[in-house]
Formats: sequence, structure tokens, C-alpha cells
Amino acid sequence: MQTKIVLRDDQIPKAWYNVIPDMPGSLAPVINPRTGAPAAPEDLTPIFPMSLIEQEVSEQRWIEIPEEVRKVYQLWRPSPLYRAHRLEAALKTPARIYYKYEGVSPAGSHKPNTAIPQSWYNKQAGIKRLATETGAGQWGCSLALANSFFGIETTVYMVRVSFTQKPYRKNLMEVWGADVIPSPSELTEVGRRILEESPDTPGSLGIAISEAVEDAATHDDTNYALGSVLNHVCLHQTVIGLEAKEQLRMAGEKPDVIFGACGGGSNFAGIAFPFVRDKANGQDIRLVAVEPASCPTLTKGVYAYDYGDIAKLTPITKMYTLGHDFVPPGIHAGGLRYHGDSALVSQLRHEGIVDAVAYPQNACFEAALLFTRSEGIVPAPESSHAIKGAVDEAVRAREEGRERTILFCLSGHGNFDMTAYEDYLAGRLVDYAYPEELIRSSLANLPEVG
Ligand SMILES: *Cc1c(COP(=O)(O)O)cnc(C)c1O
Repeated sequence: MQTKIVLRDDQIPKAWYNVIPDMPGSLAPVINPRTGAPAAPEDLTPIFPMSLIEQEVSEQRWIEIPEEVRKVYQLWRPSPLYRAHRLEAALKTPARIYYKYEGVSPAGSHKPNTAIPQSWYNKQAGIKRLATETGAGQWGCSLALANSFFGIETTVYMVRVSFTQKPYRKNLMEVWGADVIPSPSELTEVGRRILEESPDTPGSLGIAISEAVEDAATHDDTNYALGSVLNHVCLHQTVIGLEAKEQLRMAGEKPDVIFGACGGGSNFAGIAFPFVRDKANGQDIRLVAVEPASCPTLTKGVYAYDYGDIAKLTPITKMYTLGHDFVPPGIHAGGLRYHGDSALVSQLRHEGIVDAVAYPQNACFEAALLFTRSEGIVPAPESSHAIKGAVDEAVRAREEGRERTILFCLSGHGNFDMTAYEDYLAGRLVDYAYPEELIRSSLANLPEVG
């Protein structure tokens, strides 16, 4: 019985899969926050190269991966697909569990899949520096890694709670040459304003995005790079699902259900989007996004137009949102603390093609511990949400006495998250109550559009 299903270097996909032409409805237009009118490509040129702006709205189903990008991908791709024999045995389940492991990248997560092409396209456009935000530090590390390959400088605004909780990720970014700044900071107008109002804020991705966008918009040689949410990021991540599909085919399997942790939605998009067409063609397959109960965007948010950041600098996008000024509790899965979600994932959720479920953090760590004591790999706290989804599904299979094929994305390893595991093992992890009041008040501040 095979445990690892591996592909050759020349089986790295040659094109990314764009889900837009396979969406049931047309995409809701993105709105320029200053004019209130649909955003034109030129509105985004102060912060993105045209090549990526074009990918954002492309109707082409397949978009070629540049040769140089594939060469760098080759350092760790194709990533392995594992059959979780030992986890299945521990759960005594008739289900077959497979996981696509993205922690083999140098940064330890799926995020370099988009950092590499974003850095490369910006290099082609003559950009000297990229500014970005990071939550847990995974995205900052990925962009610092990519920029070190292509000779671009990196400025990272790191959410303050993670800056203190995850010092090694900050060190890793610096090893790859990045400048790392705790956010909110004194370096930007929006940072100074927030520090004045609430000096003890843990920070949030929404705040850090505002700072990075302000930095990019106010410097000519600097662009902005986002690690999730945007259509071109989801596009780049589809290498995950495309490879997994081929690997499952080699194993003689078709998945019945797919789980991915969902922060901004990109790794979930990466593993799930290549299966959206199969679903449209009648294959019975569930695509489940798993989010934290304390930041339950897809399960408790509303499908509405909202800003991507607290300072209202980003375009207004139709998505599931908890409100742009919602600051989630400081859970350890820092990469899942985002008030909004990918427009594509949101629309597919709205159309009933994608399902969503939310779990509190102790339940996710419990699943992560069972996983690491069966399979060995220590999962990132974010990835533990996908594991929890898969474990619950496998338990249901046992209770119903019915087999099924489960696929999940193990989006990253947790080797830099030992303080989180230390807290869990010591029984110190808090399950925050569902922040109903906070969500109600932030949802009262949605912009009016149309
Ligand atoms: C960032 C991150 C996530 C969540 O981000 P998405 O945009 O939803 O993919 C999940 N897992 C890991 C390991 C991450 O670093």
C-alpha cells in the first residue's frame, strides 16, 4: 500500500486553472473606493503590475506559468500527496484520507506558490521594492524568499500579536533579507492614527494591509503584494489541486469531499477550484472551507460589498465579510484572522457550490495532536482546521459504516508555532466566545454601493 504519491519535476502544471469562466454567474464588479464606480485597471497600477491586474479579471480558463516561475517551483514542487494510513487506523475509519502537503516549500507553507510569480511579474515591470502585510509570518517569509531569488527589496508590516508570539518567523524573514515592522507602526499615517486611538491593539491583517498599501501607493518604485484573497492569488495556488488531481488519479481515486483551511481563501481555492468543473459536470463532490469560530466569515458573515482593509484604501469587493473594522481575537492561527474572504470563494459559497464550517481552536489543536502522533508532521495551527474537518468526516464515515475518499490540504508545517503547542499542551488555550456583538457593530459600517 502506497503512502506517498509523487510526481516528476516535468509534471509540474504548465498552466494555472482560472475558475472565473466556470463560475455560474458573472463576477460582481470591484468598486473604486474614491469614485464609487467600477474600478478600471488603471486604478490599480499604483500598487500592482499590469500583468497581475490582467490575471485578476481574465476570462481565459488556462493561464500559462512562465518558465522561470516553473524553474523555481521545481525547488519543492510537485509536492507529495500522502495517504494517511496511520491516521485512518487511529480513527478506525473506513474512509481513505489523503493530504496534499504544502509544508515542503522553503517557507513551510503553500504561500510561495503565489509569492514566486508575484515577485517575478513585478521584476518584469521594473519594480525595486514590495511592501506587504503578514499575520502569522507565513506570507512575509514567502515573499521575502521569492524576492531574494529575483533581487527585489521587501518591507513587511507584521500584525503585532504575531510579531510577539512568533519571533522566529520574523528572524526567518530577516534571513531572507526583509525589513520587518510591527503593525500598527509609526511609519504610516494610518498606523499613527490607530496607535493614537488604541495603543494596546493586537493589530489585525486589515490594519497591516492598510499600512502596506499606503507605503506602496506613496512610493513610485514600490508595489504591494497580497498573500491571499485576490483572484490572481487563488489562480496561482491552483497548482496544488491540479497536482493532487493527477496524484489521486494515479492512486485510482476520486475525492468525495475536500477540506481546506480558510483565511483569505487561497489555499482552499488552490486545492478545491480544479474540482469545481467536475462538480459542475455532475460529480458528487463536496468542497468545504474550514474557518475559526472566532473569525467565522463564511459561516456567520454577510455576502455584501466591503473594504478589504480598515483604512478603506483597497477596492470595495463583494464578498463574505464580518465588516472591515472587525478585529478578531488573538487566536494562534494568525493566518486565518481576516474579516473578509476571496471574492471567488465567496461567490461560489453564495451559489451553494462551496460549503463552510467553523471550529474553535482547542478542537483544532486536538485534531492536530492526533495527526502529528499518527503521521509525524507537526501541522501549522491554520492547517489544523482542515485536519479537524477531515477527522470529523472520517468519524462520520465510521459511525455511518460507509467508506469515502477524503482529501485535505495540509497547508503548512508548525515548526515555528511551538508556543501555540506549548499553550495547548498546558491547557492554556482559550476558546473565545463567538464575538456576536463585535460582528454586529462592525457589520453596521458596511459601505453603501450601487
Ligand atoms: C496563510 C495560511 C493559511 C490561510 O490562508 P489562505 O489565504 O486562506 O490560504 C492556511 N495555512 C497556512 C499554513 C497559512 O500560512
